Amino acid sequence: MSHFMHSPLAGKHIVLCVTGSIAAYKAVQFARLCLKAGASVQPVMTKAAMEFVGPTTFSGICGKPVLHQMWDGGVTSGEVHVDVAAKADIVAIVPATADVLARLAHGRADDMVTAISLCTRAPMVLAPAMHPRMWESAATQRNVELLRADPRITFAGPTTGVVASGDDGMGRMLEPEEIFACLERHLLSGDFAGVQMLVTAGPTQEAIDPVRYLGNRSSGKMGFAIARLAALRGANVKLIAGPVELKTPFGVERIDVTSAAEMRAKVLEHASASNVVIMAAAVADFRPAAPSPTKIKKAKGPLPTVALAENPDILAEVGASFGPSKPGGPFLVGFALETGTDEEVIAYAQQKRERKNVHLVVANHAAEALGKDTNRIFLVDGSSVETLDPADKTTLADILLDRIRARL
Ligand code: C5P
Repeated sequence: MSHFMHSPLAGKHIVLCVTGSIAAYKAVQFARLCLKAGASVQPVMTKAAMEFVGPTTFSGICGKPVLHQMWDGGVTSGEVHVDVAAKADIVAIVPATADVLARLAHGRADDMVTAISLCTRAPMVLAPAMHPRMWESAATQRNVELLRADPRITFAGPTTGVVASGDDGMGRMLEPEEIFACLERHLLSGDFAGVQMLVTAGPTQEAIDPVRYLGNRSSGKMGFAIARLAALRGANVKLIAGPVELKTPFGVERIDVTSAAEMRAKVLEHASASNVVIMAAAVADFRPAAPSPTKIKKAKGPLPTVALAENPDILAEVGASFGPSKPGGPFLVGFALETGTDEEVIAYAQQKRERKNVHLVVANHAAEALGKDTNRIFLVDGSSVETLDPADKTTLADILLDRIRARL
């Protein structure tokens, strides 16, 4: 998924503290996600954590020895926990046991994990993992409340589900990907907090018969990147997705549709309650006028023909109701996927912006965009054209959101 592309964690130094829970094995996957995002990871383990996963696994993956003891008989000079705490951009405790929450809440510094946590000024993300009865206990809840009062601390989970004992309830650790997204979000500004955003992505499929359809090569990657980044920046995101093989970004509400007609219904249902509508979907312009209810058979004689009907232009419809001339409506962004020279592509986008009555059109070349992880885009509004350097779609989504934020 696209989170292996540009991430706010790139270049950051993460201190990963692992404490003693069965979920410790998932911290290995979490460390890998951080490393793939371009972060460096210093692993720190409690004694109990090492009963679950060997330190060699973490030192091997992170390329750094695991810190696990406060005392080394005077072999190293200085105070290791102070140095490590000072270098951290973020401290993640994955998994965080009831015991470590208790020790953190009371400012203990009785091992490497708590000593670093007490010393650091970096933001901290805690991913609790414990039996539901331990999570729900009055003592743990008191400790959680104390920790939540610290603005530097964010809880990633826990969630409900089956825990190691087989019991079901609140206390299960979030999946590594979800904890990773919490970390990314923690590092971002939250400048879209309170913004309702509607994003469409992917192709539409227009049925010819129950097994065949007209479609296009849109991968949905750009729309999913926009939805993911907007959610990380604090927006409340609904993502109306055509048929694509992409994972739902963390924190995004996904609404799956197949045809343009279904997409239209969902867009019209949600557009008026949105502050921003971004139509990144490649909506089919035509559909078979009369799809066959049964599979069209191969037969002797004349070949079947498929008569087409025009699909409604969803964006133009939204533009007609809420466009720039009607103040108070959502900020409308369309995409223009074209072929031709840069000048032609930009000119088409300008025409499209006026015809569909939207605030901003993102213009791009079919050959550079379709199915790719990278793209090159032009941002076309009523008064200017901004050319962005080629970049991965996540970076472009982030810049697009910067520009939208500035215009809201
Ligand atoms: O007219 P064209 O398909 O090039 O316009 C592209 C833009 O319009 C995209 O933002 C796309 O999501 C939107 N669109 C739409 N309904 C259609 C066709 C395109 O909303 N039927």
